[in-house]
Amino acid sequence: MYRKGRAWIELDAESLKKNVYFFRRILPEKCRLMPAVKADAYGHGAVLIAAELNRMGISDFCVASAQEGMTLREAGIEGQILVLGYTHPENLNLLEKYRLTQTVVDKGYADVLHKCGKKFLVQIGIDTGMHRLGIGWDAGDEVLKIWRMPGLKVTGIYSHLCAADERGEEPERFTRMQIARFKALAGRLEKAGIKGFSSHLQGSYGILNYPDCTFDYVRPGIALYGILSGGDDRTKIPADLYPVLSLKARIQCVRLVNQGEGAGYGLAFVARRDTRLAVLSAGYADGIPRNLGGKGYVVVCKKAAPVVGRICMDQMLVDVTDIPEAQAGDEAVLIGRQGETVVTMEQYAAWSGTIANEIASRLGARLDRFFISREI
Ligand SMILES: *Cc1c(COP(=O)(O)O)cnc(C)c1O
Repeated sequence: MYRKGRAWIELDAESLKKNVYFFRRILPEKCRLMPAVKADAYGHGAVLIAAELNRMGISDFCVASAQEGMTLREAGIEGQILVLGYTHPENLNLLEKYRLTQTVVDKGYADVLHKCGKKFLVQIGIDTGMHRLGIGWDAGDEVLKIWRMPGLKVTGIYSHLCAADERGEEPERFTRMQIARFKALAGRLEKAGIKGFSSHLQGSYGILNYPDCTFDYVRPGIALYGILSGGDDRTKIPADLYPVLSLKARIQCVRLVNQGEGAGYGLAFVARRDTRLAVLSAGYADGIPRNLGGKGYVVVCKKAAPVVGRICMDQMLVDVTDIPEAQAGDEAVLIGRQGETVVTMEQYAAWSGTIANEIASRLGARLDRFFISREI
């Protein structure tokens, strides 16, 4: 099937490679990458991204669910796959069948796993101050109890930073405290004679703002895809990153609307002049936020075409009155670059009043995704 037919995502392997090299350059040699490929690799396509990362020598991944882990294994992804999120007791067979490492966030859940009479691979989530998931950093005894359960094989501990993307005295003090707490717990385990476990704490902003703090692994997500979350962009290490994803759609048709006439649902767009409207074959079912209606622009013939009217489920309207060369069959770039005109994921998210992570992770399942080579 022709993949650039209706609406699609193009992935750039060179950019992904550059981002991996960037992280390798700024991190100590012994620190390994465990990329977050959850949520279909932030909408990029988890199988495509993980396979490409595998080829670059990366063999550890984090996902949110056992099902995401299963999808990677069925596509032939090797190495360690850590499930960060919840797996229902009815689905524990997936952990065993697909050799997934499950996060344990409290004693009760550890008991559930232990009582199955298997030997599940697990890592223990530690709460160092975020208060979302994990065992308290000061509850070393509880961690040790879990460690010694015969039904579990604990391979490591990890925690999560919750203010690492903000610069300023208070968030930096809090983050330093989280780091110190995590180190204290790791020290406690070592003192109890536990050896050879892995520890990790930092996601993208933990790396960019606290590069001096390193454990065995880091878990970059958003930045690995060349995107920033919309946190403070003045990161301690300037982010030398390249967007991996472009979102494109075809112009299905171009039509004339006379001055004073409306277009689209609710006739929300009213032409203030005789207007040439291009109808793009992408809509909110493809992950275009509905509240993008009337905001921002897409790139057509290397020029900015304003988004007008309401976003439909499968189509959207843009004004190409000032781009007379635009015609049916042309490509429109919703996120990405064409000539000198660019729409970044960050800009697109700002138009929609959210962060890039949400836009990326909600890109529609029906979009075709593929790597494209630089030459094309
Ligand atoms: C999603 C996630 C990450 C990656 O975060 P980014 O900010 O996208 O780098 C790391 N760790 C955990 C526990 C996560 O849930």
